[in-house]
Amino acid sequence: MILAFAGGVGGAKLAHGLARTLDPSALVIAVNTGDDFLHLDYFICPDLDSVLYKLAGINDVERGWGIRDETWNFMETLKQVGGEDWFQLGDKDLTTHIDRTRWLTEGQTLSDVTHALCQQHNVAHAIVPMTDHRVGTIVDTKEGDFFFQNYFVRLRCEPEYTGVHYKGMEDAEPSPQFAKAMSNPDLRAIVFCPSNPFVSIDPILNVPGVSIALDKTDVPIVAVSPIIGGQAVKGPAAKMMAELRLPVSPLGIAQHYGELIDGLVIDKQDSNLADEIRAAGIGVHVTNTLMKSAEDESNLAQETLKFATTLARKKV
Ligand code: GDP
Ligand code: CA
Repeated sequence: MILAFAGGVGGAKLAHGLARTLDPSALVIAVNTGDDFLHLDYFICPDLDSVLYKLAGINDVERGWGIRDETWNFMETLKQVGGEDWFQLGDKDLTTHIDRTRWLTEGQTLSDVTHALCQQHNVAHAIVPMTDHRVGTIVDTKEGDFFFQNYFVRLRCEPEYTGVHYKGMEDAEPSPQFAKAMSNPDLRAIVFCPSNPFVSIDPILNVPGVSIALDKTDVPIVAVSPIIGGQAVKGPAAKMMAELRLPVSPLGIAQHYGELIDGLVIDKQDSNLADEIRAAGIGVHVTNTLMKSAEDESNLAQETLKFATTLARKKV
């Protein structure tokens, strides 16, 4: 069994490769919920939806989020009547938010709701929220702190990033399936997908109980670098690394995760950094990490899993 940690777009791509490689019983994908927010009274889970739509094969590739062949009647009408239109909601996508919000209001947990949404879309692999508690990632910047969506969508990540903190995290605990996966005796490896380390993976690591479980685990933890050739494929990861004065390269990713990871998968473009990362005690596998097709996703998933079998968990 494999446990993957994932954010939205980058996470979804590798999660899809893993799902194409592993049986549904052999994979749990724990997804960041720190970006979740209420908008127009709908409870929106951007990262869970990105992973769900990707595994369902209905994601929009060009836009990078939402459902393909989407229509925008709702948004257009909302705009006409002067409604809050800073966050885009497609007509098809809206169905997910309506169902999720109704089911949560009826008292179901986010895990239950996510499972039901997976069933709606015939997704057999386990996509699970990192926690069933309401938590929020708050981005600290030189211009103040902002809820993630404000920083990301409204402010377009412009203010200089200094760190994150979380709202509601003290009382949170891992969702039942996530907790079970971390202590499953059949667990063979934990994979950090090439998601944003600061606002996608770190929130998962900060759910109380997760770092203790990872300290105890004796399976290797492998990360895939979201930085290729000095750039993020998408999103603010590279900008954030620069603002934190980290090297904008897999080296910075290695420094950020540090002793937590046993191995890092880096792109061929960054092969010159392999020795330096190995010198820090982290195993390195060099391959193509840019995922442009389902085949790329499966290849990277398979190579990552194979690499994990060569690694042993460091005892700190
Ligand atoms: P978000 O929540 O939608 O921002 O998604 P994630 O945090 O999961 O993913 C964002 C990260 O994915 C960015 O830092 C990108 O550089 C990375 N990413 C996107 N596509 C790829 C890819 O094909 N390969 C790799 N290695 N990283 C990718
Ligand atoms: Ca996200």
